[in-house]
Amino acid sequence: MTTGTLSAPLVVEFPFTRSLGPVQSAFLTGLRERTVLGVRTTDGTVLVPPVEYDPATAEELRELVQVAETGTVTTWAWNPRPTGKHPLGRPFAWVLVRLDGAGSSLLHVLDAPSAAAVSTGMRVRVRWAAERTGAITDIACFEPYDGAPGDAPEEHSGDFADAVSLVTLPARLDYTYSPGRAQTAHLRALAERRIVGERCPECRKVYVPPRGACPTCGVPTGERVEVGPKGTVTTYCVVNIKAKGLDIEVPYVYAHIALDGAGLALHGRLAGIPYDQVRMGMRVEPVWKEGQRWPDHYRPAGEPDADYDTYKELV
Ligand SMILES: [Zn+2]
Repeated sequence: MTTGTLSAPLVVEFPFTRSLGPVQSAFLTGLRERTVLGVRTTDGTVLVPPVEYDPATAEELRELVQVAETGTVTTWAWNPRPTGKHPLGRPFAWVLVRLDGAGSSLLHVLDAPSAAAVSTGMRVRVRWAAERTGAITDIACFEPYDGAPGDAPEEHSGDFADAVSLVTLPARLDYTYSPGRAQTAHLRALAERRIVGERCPECRKVYVPPRGACPTCGVPTGERVEVGPKGTVTTYCVVNIKAKGLDIEVPYVYAHIALDGAGLALHGRLAGIPYDQVRMGMRVEPVWKEGQRWPDHYRPAGEPDADYDTYKELV
């Protein structure tokens, strides 16, 4: 018997495109031209990166200022294990850098040999990327610097030829998911083509898939109960939009199915019947494909439809 709780690496990743507006457009286009721009607030502070509205007064801000490429680390955190999406492929420091002439700090990375080489207050300068496109990554990173401070801030029109107006940004979340004790047992049973839930000791409801506790009674659900494999369609929908990466022709039916013995319905895809003949009360059974650790879909079980009264509490 296999023991221990399951876990799996999961990644959620999607790109999104945003328009920049005049201030962010000038900032990112400026980086392409090796020019760092900030914006002057109502009280005279220069914010880098710039914002469109004053954080204190909410007034619109348009007075752009060029600041130096040199600055001071105001705080930092060492990252010993970079991921493939990080700006540097070796251990580095995340840093907040207040560029000379700026009154706020910019988040970026510092290329340093070790954490021991990084300190709050250390002097750094921009290392420009060889190829620049109008993105924050046009600053490849910061690097330690012991030279003179950069020039004082200067007014800047923010006008550039071919200004960047849109950016597409990746959002990505890498994490390890552990389903816990109850779902681990459920998933292990599925691999043996058995469907196992857990019964609440107080209300006697059988949860499938089990979550380890009854949300109504607030108590752990320890008693394992095998349910199904047959069940009843309690409700369903016809899917007409093809999901990217899903190899199923539309239209198809996705249904809530109350497995025999279960206290609530789970959802699954229905096949083996034309989509317009699916109905509430239909009796169905799971279909397991070779090598698959969970039911691929459900199909008609060839039994008379269930009476509404037998499943009305589960709709
Ligand atoms: Zn309960």
